[in-house]
Amino acid sequence: MPTLRKSTRVVGVAAACALAAGVAYGTGSASADRPSGRTSAEPHNIGLLVQEIDSYYGAAQDADGVWQAAPDSQYAEDLARVQAGAKRQIAKAARAAHHGKGHKPAIVFDIDDTLLLSFDYERKTNYVYDDATWKAYVAKADRPAVFGTPALIDYAHSKGVEVFYNSGLGADQRSAAVENLKKVGIDVNLDAGHVFLKDKANPPAYLSDCATPAAWNCTTVQYKSGTRAHIESLGYDIVGNFGDQYSDLEGGHADRTYKFPNPTYYVG
Ligand SMILES: [Mg+2]
Repeated sequence: MPTLRKSTRVVGVAAACALAAGVAYGTGSASADRPSGRTSAEPHNIGLLVQEIDSYYGAAQDADGVWQAAPDSQYAEDLARVQAGAKRQIAKAARAAHHGKGHKPAIVFDIDDTLLLSFDYERKTNYVYDDATWKAYVAKADRPAVFGTPALIDYAHSKGVEVFYNSGLGADQRSAAVENLKKVGIDVNLDAGHVFLKDKANPPAYLSDCATPAAWNCTTVQYKSGTRAHIESLGYDIVGNFGDQYSDLEGGHADRTYKFPNPTYYVG
């Protein structure tokens, strides 16, 4: 999760409830709180929402007390569907490039909850972010992979599609991020030329519209889309951009976007 999350993340479960409830009101559908006839503006019940999230992930604690998602969960199923579509597009882009119709195809991945799953942290903190505990969690470099992503990256790599990473993690978290990615079997292009992290102390020139060494004012969308524009400037065509937040995906500079599910927090 980006360090900007401290200020831009909609804090905790309550905000997610408001979003979920908005959908329920708009359609007049029954909610989990009451089977029918929900007429007030009362937000979604937090306790029930936590149960829904547990169910979605097939949440269970392993022998070490770590909350894990289940490979047969609805979460895993939703991921598999998005990834299957992505693989078809990757194959298509690779074929086009092979026939001289595309130019240096590339794909871009967010890291937190796109490649490395933070469910244990979120579950244990009851979905409320804290900068210090989050950083300690990332530093352990022990997150599991988001289901299917090591294979997806290997697939793209095997097709000659260049893999890049575009994360809000800080430059000081680079070694932990790289170590964790390797640990889960993601080991393609983990060099600094492909793993873009947020360097607030020394922001790159291509972010000069919103960041200088004196002041970082980039929104998540500015940071991430500006980084994609930079990748394009290196001659790549970004055929797919993957993220768990809409702020990973907005701002253009990708032929297609792929939204992975994440009901546990919101980064604007
Ligand atoms: Mg993310």
